[in-house]
Amino acid sequence: MNGRELSVTGEYLGSLDHGADWRAEIEAFADEHEVDAGWFWAMGAVQDVKLWYYDQTDREYRSVSFDEPLEVASCVGNVANLDGERFAHTHMVLSRQSGQSLAGHLDTATVFAGECHLRAFERPLEREYDEATGLDLWL
Ligand code: ZN
Repeated sequence: MNGRELSVTGEYLGSLDHGADWRAEIEAFADEHEVDAGWFWAMGAVQDVKLWYYDQTDREYRSVSFDEPLEVASCVGNVANLDGERFAHTHMVLSRQSGQSLAGHLDTATVFAGECHLRAFERPLEREYDEATGLDLWL
């Protein structure tokens, strides 16, 4: 376990702009408040989504897209620095009209409406390539 004690420096609430990209909105929110380490929760609805699934054997993300209105039943993620920019690592559980769910690592989604709670921490989080997984993990 690579752990640390946290000092919370701020709590922010925001609503995402209709038609914007979901993850870009969260990253812009982190930029606005200069959050270099944070945790967030969000919910709402999107007009489409592109999710990624990490293939642990091939060490590649596989993408799957859904061009339909979906509820964001749950969205959780964190903010860290990756290659000198703030990156919102974002996971989502989405639901269709039938109640059937879809889930994964978010690449892009067009916001219909969304609400986000971002908690900021004092010490910046940095991501760097990890040999064991092939992923960019926290230092
Ligand atoms: Zn992920």
